[in-house]
Amino acid sequence: MMNSDSMSRIASCNNKPMAVPTKEEEEDPPISTSLLSFDTDASCPSTSPKPPLTNVIFTALILVTCIALSAAIAFGFLFFSSSYSHPSQPISDVVSRPLKKLKRPVVLLISSDGFRFGYQYKTDVPNINRLIRNGTEAELGLIPVFPTLTFPNHYAIVTGLYPAYHGIINNFFLDPNTGEAFSMGSHDPKWWLGEPLWETVVNHGLKAATYFWPGSEVIKGGWTCPESLCMRYNGSVSFEERVDTVLNYFDLPTDEIPSFMTLYFEDPDHQGHKVGPDDPQITEAIARVDGMIGRLIRGLEEKGVFEDVNIIMVGDHGMVGTCDKKLIFLEDLAPWIEIPKDWIQSYSPLLSIRPPPSYSAKDVVTKMNEGLKSGKVQNGQYLKVYLKEELPARLHYSASDRIPPIIGLIDESFKVEQKSSKRKECGGSHGYDNAFFSMRTIFIAHGPQFARGSKVPSFENVQIYNLVTTILNIQGASNNGTASFPKTILLPSH
Ligand SMILES: [Zn+2]
Repeated sequence: MMNSDSMSRIASCNNKPMAVPTKEEEEDPPISTSLLSFDTDASCPSTSPKPPLTNVIFTALILVTCIALSAAIAFGFLFFSSSYSHPSQPISDVVSRPLKKLKRPVVLLISSDGFRFGYQYKTDVPNINRLIRNGTEAELGLIPVFPTLTFPNHYAIVTGLYPAYHGIINNFFLDPNTGEAFSMGSHDPKWWLGEPLWETVVNHGLKAATYFWPGSEVIKGGWTCPESLCMRYNGSVSFEERVDTVLNYFDLPTDEIPSFMTLYFEDPDHQGHKVGPDDPQITEAIARVDGMIGRLIRGLEEKGVFEDVNIIMVGDHGMVGTCDKKLIFLEDLAPWIEIPKDWIQSYSPLLSIRPPPSYSAKDVVTKMNEGLKSGKVQNGQYLKVYLKEELPARLHYSASDRIPPIIGLIDESFKVEQKSSKRKECGGSHGYDNAFFSMRTIFIAHGPQFARGSKVPSFENVQIYNLVTTILNIQGASNNGTASFPKTILLPSH
């Protein structure tokens, strides 16, 4: 067991969200905002206070021409933007649309695990396309946090924190103070830092329901994981049953309808690992996920609430093909330094190494990089080893003592193993640097607070927490997202 001292030590060094610089200046405002701020005055000549008569007529003529021209330009702009960005909808997205049936906003957060950005073009996905067409999409996908693994990312989405701050720094890791192991089945709240959305929601007297999400079964703060609203993970429950259960929440008395719900599908991650991102099995998996979105939309329509619900569909990370030719073996580094198996906390795609305290981590890093750069280690040029403090700052992956001192960044689609074997297999993997495009996933949002047919620039998933609290109109906990981000995505209130 971990004593309270070490717990508070972890909490005090891990649970300090870092201020993220505002991105306001860099980002283009959404189309609706640019329409609102369309300025016709700039091109008009100014009128002087007491003009002579001829000047008055002349000025009036110029003014009329100017107004007519501005109107023509504005009309042209509206026409262009309606045909470009709003293919089938009238212009009605200057402000958020009022709720028709629900009493207050509801957010349904859906995760399709390993849904790499671009999979939506692999096959016909009429239902996902319906959400895209009438909603808001990150045009080039959603950027996961590093490491691009399932648990660190799902928990970043619901806390707005980078893994160094929310504590789930890998799918499996060891607590350096106690030696205890975290695994994906660990529900002890000591591992799970930060305040996930379901906790924020119930703290505000609203209801939350989770149909699977990493961390949702952890009893923490005001969240008790109630039997009827918090499903215990069981991968064998059919996707249909998951969708239907979420739909049933809308039959509850209005006051009891959860304001925040999660829905999780293991696909297409499952297939992606087995066969890589380009296999026909992925196409089938995508079509199946699309079918589930269709089932959900139909159900919501039957209940008359489809247009009232804010649906946010995301993935946790992408996927890239891996194959036997792209391997790096740690045993090949022996002439420079022996790296025994028990120093390794994870191999691929996140190489993390904790040498015993008697070794200098800096020395290990220097010797490993010497070997990797020597040209004598097979594929050595595709792995670079860092002290965690020296990793690129954009990865935000050092401020927790749970993160081992040595981290290796592996090039896209390469894998690190201890020693060579005769095993032959090709498949898919994720966990690499989040700068790789292959690690990107989707962000598709549809509902009263999202403009129809809008495309927004890519952003990191730590922004989603503030987006949800803004839609629900509740005060969130402090996090790594940017406070001003939601207004760059959401329609202003009606
Ligand atoms: Zn996976």
